[in-house]
Amino acid sequence: MGVTMMDKKSETVRVVVRCRPLSSKEVENEKTMIVEIDDKIGEIAVNPPKEINEPPKRFTFDMVYPPNTKQDYLFETTGLPICQSVMDGYNGTIFAYGQTGTGKTHTMEGVWEVPELRGITPRSFSFMFEQIDGMRNVSFLIRASYLEIYNEEVRDLLSKDPSRKLDLKEVSLAAADLEKGVYVKDLTQHIVRSHKDCEQVMLAGKRNRSVSSIGFSCQFTESSLTQIGATLMNAESSRSHSVFTIVVESSKTDDRGESHVRVGKLNLVDLAGSEVSCPLSRPRPRPRPRPRPSRFRIPLYRQGKTGATGERLKEATKINLSLSALGNVISALVDAKTAHIPYRDSKLTRLLQDSLGGNTRTVMVANIGPADYNYDETLSTLRCIEEEE
Ligand code: ADP
Ligand code: MG
Repeated sequence: MGVTMMDKKSETVRVVVRCRPLSSKEVENEKTMIVEIDDKIGEIAVNPPKEINEPPKRFTFDMVYPPNTKQDYLFETTGLPICQSVMDGYNGTIFAYGQTGTGKTHTMEGVWEVPELRGITPRSFSFMFEQIDGMRNVSFLIRASYLEIYNEEVRDLLSKDPSRKLDLKEVSLAAADLEKGVYVKDLTQHIVRSHKDCEQVMLAGKRNRSVSSIGFSCQFTESSLTQIGATLMNAESSRSHSVFTIVVESSKTDDRGESHVRVGKLNLVDLAGSEVSCPLSRPRPRPRPRPRPSRFRIPLYRQGKTGATGERLKEATKINLSLSALGNVISALVDAKTAHIPYRDSKLTRLLQDSLGGNTRTVMVANIGPADYNYDETLSTLRCIEEEE
């Protein structure tokens, strides 16, 4: 069952790039489009500003999605295969990565009320319940949970007290204690019976998302400020990771009266904005004796002009830590030669341990903006995710 689907390591982790269109504000302000995409050959060219006087920087990926990409096509080629394998009893994770304002939330959620603009999340809900409703002789139990990781602290967005910090716990799954399961103690799970139920659970949880402890008026580069101004909704979500999880348990009784149970899990992850790390030099979670060859590289953090302090510094440090830990895990998974997968370096990677690697599927949608003033961030994102030769 499913063996052929899972036997190629490269198929289990995919990294793709989506470029959003110029916003109406960017058009109004006569910003130039510097990103050119050839989706047939999977190439992205980024044109440096004129004063730099350099040739375009070129990158090649498995899949690149140009600005006119429709939500349904994106879902069919990224989320759908993962949802399918979750229905078959595997775990899967879909991430949106990128600078604030590049379309992570648009990619994951989109516009709930407009059918053609619905993102991967609502489409995943619909897809799964369509499958479930179409199946005979199989009973299902579907549970949803929704949490946020902010400053390396886990909070339950569906809890009556969402400010409470929850702990990650480990249980031994095998007698030899080799296999560990990680779970969040006291995390609320809602039983959901339709895609509408999922939607309501998610929208209820979104109301509990973190607002940064520090205002958004300072410390940002001019480019991210412009974008944040355009999308104030981002203020609350750009510094935390949100993880919506659906556990699909199915039980099928065969002709001989034996029942077969399968459990699959889907994680839908909207990551913190990758730009918040910029004011820092790149910290390592822990010094390593030898750097491993990485294909999913850690973002190139630059020392900012203004030194971040206090809460702001703490936030940025934690985001840095978890994004680089995630980068290291993904690199290790893609690199067939690496045996050790460093899940333990962050809450996010610990939490997703059973859904990253092994018999699981992952897709990371890296989002970029097309405009000239995002040149540095766009290059940073593409360099971070490009595969080394
Ligand atoms: P992020 O979550 O990465 O901060 P958002 O998803 O909030 O970014 O997107 C920023 C703005 O750009 C929003 O107004 C969003 O509707 C718009 N946008 C993003 N991606 C697209 C797209 N592919 N097509 C049209 N509009 C988009
Ligand atoms: Mg967002």
